[in-house]
Amino acid sequence: MKKMNVAIDGPGGAGKSSISRVIAEELNFIHVDTGAMYRAIGLYAIRNQCLDADQITEKLPEISVTLKFIGGVQRVMLCDEDVTDYIRSPEVSMAASKVSAVPAVRAHLLDLQKKIATENDIIMDGRDIGSVVLPDADLKIFLTASAEERASRRYLELKEKPDCPSYEEVLADIRQRDENDMNRAIAPLCQAEDAIFVDSSEMGFHEVVAYIESLIREKLNEL
Ligand code: C5P
Repeated sequence: MKKMNVAIDGPGGAGKSSISRVIAEELNFIHVDTGAMYRAIGLYAIRNQCLDADQITEKLPEISVTLKFIGGVQRVMLCDEDVTDYIRSPEVSMAASKVSAVPAVRAHLLDLQKKIATENDIIMDGRDIGSVVLPDADLKIFLTASAEERASRRYLELKEKPDCPSYEEVLADIRQRDENDMNRAIAPLCQAEDAIFVDSSEMGFHEVVAYIESLIREKLNEL
């Protein structure tokens, strides 16, 4: 039977992953966080000092990124090492943003992303899911919020951690990544024509979850 594919795109810090995770659990779908795959390659590039486009392209044959789902929750494997807990730092965010602009890196991850979508009912989040990875997705959402709102949410998450950056640093980081993601030549962050636009700046987390879940349930009833 054809699998249900939901694409959720939007800028960093819009809440795509946390919202998708909760809805996927409710609906018994798999949540695929494609940003984590780019982050794994960013981590590799930092560890091996190959952040430059040519250097990372040359290393790709030895970089394997795979996903494991434990109880429906995604773990990211980089060359068989579970790196899920090492990819959330601001340094890795910036490295991911950098390597994700390299065409060969995107090609390297595309087949795996498409394959998972063919085999499972999924909610896949990223930047180019509705536009490039799953252009035939059953439902496409573009989830965004103002840069200030996204920065304060991210800051709250990071606040309790050691070496927490300041709010201003988090905001600068978000703006820089927006700029990189929207203006790169390949698969830039953009709203697919047939995506539903959701601005969560003035919405609470549970409100966004309930709204997107209702859109998915509506679609499920139509299929
Ligand atoms: O979503 P997240 O912030 O974890 O993504 C990290 C980086 O990976 C983004 O800044 C973006 O540059 C890149 N990315 C991408 N395409 C995707 C998902 C993430 O280019 N589908």
